[in-house]
Amino acid sequence: MTVDELLQQGRLAPLEARILIAHALQWSRVQLVTRSQDILSTTQLSAIDALFRRRESGEPIAYITGFREFHELDFEVTPAVLIPRPETELLVELANERLPRHGSALDLGTGSGAVAVTLAHLRPDAKLTATDISAEALQIAERNAARHQCKVILVRSDWYGQVNGIFDLIISNPPYIAADDPHLMQGDLRFEPSGALTDHADGLKAIESIITDAPKYLKPGGWLLLEHGYDQAASVRKLFDLSAWTDVGSWRDLAGIERVSGARRPLT
Ligand code: GLN
Repeated sequence: MTVDELLQQGRLAPLEARILIAHALQWSRVQLVTRSQDILSTTQLSAIDALFRRRESGEPIAYITGFREFHELDFEVTPAVLIPRPETELLVELANERLPRHGSALDLGTGSGAVAVTLAHLRPDAKLTATDISAEALQIAERNAARHQCKVILVRSDWYGQVNGIFDLIISNPPYIAADDPHLMQGDLRFEPSGALTDHADGLKAIESIITDAPKYLKPGGWLLLEHGYDQAASVRKLFDLSAWTDVGSWRDLAGIERVSGARRPLT
């Protein structure tokens, strides 16, 4: 049996099959093409079959390979952290545009560290602090920061609980799926940490507490930016009390969905 023949079997979508075959054989994408006619050994075939079975039982590709690309960087992931999503790149872009030179940023609930590490990578001038309530997540974030040679101060904290200092920018991709949302029982989400996905309430509780306490940790003129669900933008904007915030707005992701909302502390 060859790679080409395995692909022809059609057990998985071709892209997924290629990723898992390359991972099982420890072949590069190029080798997958140049060696597609090689006869595979029984050991190789059983390694591939084991990965195919995991995928067939629903396990996310990223947890099987242990990696997911985000904003052109490779991130280690395990079931202790949410798998980075492409729409979250919008949060990084908006943060990058708003973070002053040599500014400080706080990422709440960093998980794999995808947001904080990517921002640190784009902005070596900036000082990044990232929190998570999960010690396991922080270990992964630490490895991802090291992998990309970025300095991120990691703090184990329940939102602002153990945070000290005052920042130019606060960002978060918090759990925002409502407890009764059927998506939690579908696809990759079944395998991801529930505390990274849902607030176990209406989907807005974590966002609300992040907004309520943010002014204490934000410099005048500093931005708070939050990722949220596809239908939450108007509700999130309403959570910003206009006596404490200005420039309340929402921004669209590449799919055209309002995916990030935020506001600024007034300058005076
Ligand atoms: N974007 C994820 C999803 O809808 C949820 C991530 C989150 O709750 N922060 O699958």
